[in-house]
Amino acid sequence: MIIKKEKIINILLCDDDPVDRKLIRAYVSKLTQYNFEFTEAGEEEEIIIALERGGFDLILLDIQMPGRTGLEWLAELSKRKIAPVIILTGHGSEMIAVDAMKNGAADYLPKSELNFENLNRTVNNALEKWALLKKLEEYQIKLEYLARTDELTGLMNRRSLMERLVEEISRATRYNHPLSVLIMDIDCFKKINDVYGHLEGDKVIEDTSKMILESIRNIDFSGRYGGDEFVIILPETSLNEARKIGERIRSKIAHSVVFRDGDIPIKYTVSIGGVQLSDVYHLSSDELLKKADDALYQAKHKGGNLICC
Ligand code: GH3
Ligand code: MG
Repeated sequence: MIIKKEKIINILLCDDDPVDRKLIRAYVSKLTQYNFEFTEAGEEEEIIIALERGGFDLILLDIQMPGRTGLEWLAELSKRKIAPVIILTGHGSEMIAVDAMKNGAADYLPKSELNFENLNRTVNNALEKWALLKKLEEYQIKLEYLARTDELTGLMNRRSLMERLVEEISRATRYNHPLSVLIMDIDCFKKINDVYGHLEGDKVIEDTSKMILESIRNIDFSGRYGGDEFVIILPETSLNEARKIGERIRSKIAHSVVFRDGDIPIKYTVSIGGVQLSDVYHLSSDELLKKADDALYQAKHKGGNLICC
């Protein structure tokens, strides 16, 4: 059977012994699953240059190298997460091999056991392990994103907003910089749900989040605080400036039209409360939001479609 070799595996082969390098190349080149390309490095300087160039899928690293030792190189390679590392050990360095595995090596192979079968197994193990690790990292990133994000709008969720607010309060307090917060609630949202249905209500929430994003700077943070309520954190912003930003969002929404299926327009408004972190006395995140919520209540009390600060 002819095995199709499509993928090219770039190997960095770090070994100061040219005979060993030749032997390893000969064995690895016989592995049928992949095509291999080799970069050989026998000295510290050559490894540095090769790593600067990058693009490696696998690193074979002799534990006994002149200059920096294999373990020292391994520490750096593990930290930089460049590629899986297979450690090649000399006679009597089993303990070092154990150390290497603890310090991030994908596998190890004693030089006395260099043969086709062992290299085949070790190279495949290392590549598979690395692919699984990468997938795991992707899942972790996705999980973290999901834990921080509101599903409907893609904005920060309440938990993530609160964490960010605590951080921004401590930053503003430390540097004595202004910080303002807006809290915004859709007016008569229950009626929108009742008249047009929950799905159309969702669409209104989504469009509201887009209009918020269009109106704020990239140093600001916006999130869905719950139901039809949004919070906007404005670092380096005085109450006066926050009022202008809030007014811009209010006006944009009041002049917008969300189209339902069948092109029937939904017009709606929002009310906003704003507050600035006082430089005279410091407020906790809960106290700051409570003050913003009081201002929001004022806006609602005065008939809605209004910002109160
Ligand atoms: P007010 O002007 O005083 O804010 O009145 P309101 O009708 O907007 O009252 P309120 O803000 O208390 O209502 C929020 C409503 O939002 C209640 C809830 O059924 C609805 N809601 C909460 N989450 C969602 C959601 O994800 N999608 C939809 N469509 N509706 C939601
Ligand atoms: Mg509401």
